[in-house]
Amino acid sequence: MRRFLVAGNWKMNTDRAGGTALATAVAAADPGPKTDVLVCPPFPYLIPVGEALQGSGVRLGAQDVWYEPSGAFTGEVSVAMLRDTGCSHVVLGHSERRHILGETDETICRKVQAAIAGHLTVILCVGELLEEREAGQTEAVLNRQLAGGLEGISEQDAADLVIAYEPVWAIGTGVTASPDQAETAHAHIRNWLADRYNAAFSDRIRILYGGSVKPDNAQTLMQQSNVDGALVGGASLKADSFLAIVDAARSLAAAE
Ligand code: PEP
Repeated sequence: MRRFLVAGNWKMNTDRAGGTALATAVAAADPGPKTDVLVCPPFPYLIPVGEALQGSGVRLGAQDVWYEPSGAFTGEVSVAMLRDTGCSHVVLGHSERRHILGETDETICRKVQAAIAGHLTVILCVGELLEEREAGQTEAVLNRQLAGGLEGISEQDAADLVIAYEPVWAIGTGVTASPDQAETAHAHIRNWLADRYNAAFSDRIRILYGGSVKPDNAQTLMQQSNVDGALVGGASLKADSFLAIVDAARSLAAAE
């Protein structure tokens, strides 16, 4: 059975005091034995947030990384630096980086390769724009982003990989994919992984849903057989809503 993962993407939000208080509240959560919890604060708060999480099972992740190990890359942060702050995970290919900051599949793939080589667990985000969905291109977009982001990544490299399906039209909009829409996309991603790697591998990989996940829709989304957790933006910024989503995963896991 796949474990649930509930990950909070804080984006460019919080400050030192607020982020530390939020992490302290999340650290007090009891996700049960079959659910993993992760928070991804902005770079400057990784260390204080990591300190607030110490002794809890909640993991620390970053929202991005650069693929070179060191050198003249002003403004960038390396895999080793993230490891040094206590990160175990990194989110790559988030739609805001693809569509606001112009990241390509090729750049994302170099980041995926560097992160895996440096022993960070990658959460690779994929998802279509509204016009792509309306034009019937959802699966083609997912295929392109998966193939591009995982180019040259072997089954062994990808052992800990997590995929997040995040339809761009659902991110930060309050519009959520229906459970059916999410399940259809997740099943497509799982089939793609089975074709590219193999069925046993594909069956082990966690596929998170992201896009306006809230306490009132988390359970029905995560109830879908191919939805293994959530990547949560807005609702991860308040301890009570994030913890309610963690709790939804905990009860689903307990019922399995
Ligand atoms: C995200 O940041 O990945 C996200 C899904 O945001 P939101 O939950 O606010 O839609």
